[in-house]
Amino acid sequence: MGNTCLVVMYHYVRDSATTPFPEIRALPPALIERQLDWLQREHHLISLHELEAAMDGHARLPPNAALVTFDDGFIDHYEAVFPILRRRGVSGVFFLAQRPYEASPRVLGVHKTHFLLAHLGAEAFAAAVLREHEPALVAVDAGREDVFGADRWEHADERTIKHLLNYGLPFDEAERILDALFARHLGPQESFARELYLGEPMIAGMAAAGMTFGYHTRSHRMLSRLDVEEQERELRDGVAWIRRLTGQARVSFCYPWGGPKTYTTGTVQILAGNGYSVAFTSVRRRVDLSRDGRFELPRIDARDLPPYVTGEPATPPGEPS
Ligand SMILES: [Zn+2]
Repeated sequence: MGNTCLVVMYHYVRDSATTPFPEIRALPPALIERQLDWLQREHHLISLHELEAAMDGHARLPPNAALVTFDDGFIDHYEAVFPILRRRGVSGVFFLAQRPYEASPRVLGVHKTHFLLAHLGAEAFAAAVLREHEPALVAVDAGREDVFGADRWEHADERTIKHLLNYGLPFDEAERILDALFARHLGPQESFARELYLGEPMIAGMAAAGMTFGYHTRSHRMLSRLDVEEQERELRDGVAWIRRLTGQARVSFCYPWGGPKTYTTGTVQILAGNGYSVAFTSVRRRVDLSRDGRFELPRIDARDLPPYVTGEPATPPGEPS
């Protein structure tokens, strides 16, 4: 068993019911405590540094190794997760996209979708998207039978609308629509982003206390939809930026969405060429050092582990899409 590691992935960690967005699917802090109780009882929690050392052949993993990772750089991770991990002496890995840290901070498209869905509900959100740009939907529909006819939009579910925004529409068009709807329903993006994402002093404080940070692209676009130059632009600045924020020597990476079709062999080459240490997917199984390449390390969603799989009632945790 010294050759495998259970890498757990988390997203939103908050008591959503007490926030202005009760529909955001988050893991409540009390449940992450229970999951960590289980992880610490059944596993040996390691740091990313220990996993990297094992991949480099400098050390062996302990039996039942496990590592906890947190995507998207939410302020949740400072407020709810960091105190818990510090109290338990656990080192977590936190993945940041850069766009929220640029001159005028922006909410990532994936999160605009989550908050608009939470605010409007799936049907009203789908209808709003349709109204915002009917010609784009017609154009998409004309070229592709597998996408969604306008008539089907009346009862669009969450999956359908996410698929359209993530895969169906050109990036610029999806972004334009989300920006318009966000401004209309949720207000200015800049102040929302400042309340949603970790601040730089928080990141520095967490790093100083033994937490590790990795990169999650510049703007959280689906890398497999980009050509090589566009992917290069999404990935090239991450190592230097995370080093500057944290003082870390090594910088890991995590693919947005992270399924097998969300990146390409070209992505892996760019990561290797730009000095990243390892990269994580969201393919749901344990890391096996005897077969997994360092730029395609699988992770298991928190919802696939106790207390969620014991049959006990639980609020569903956050989702990767
Ligand atoms: Zn993400």
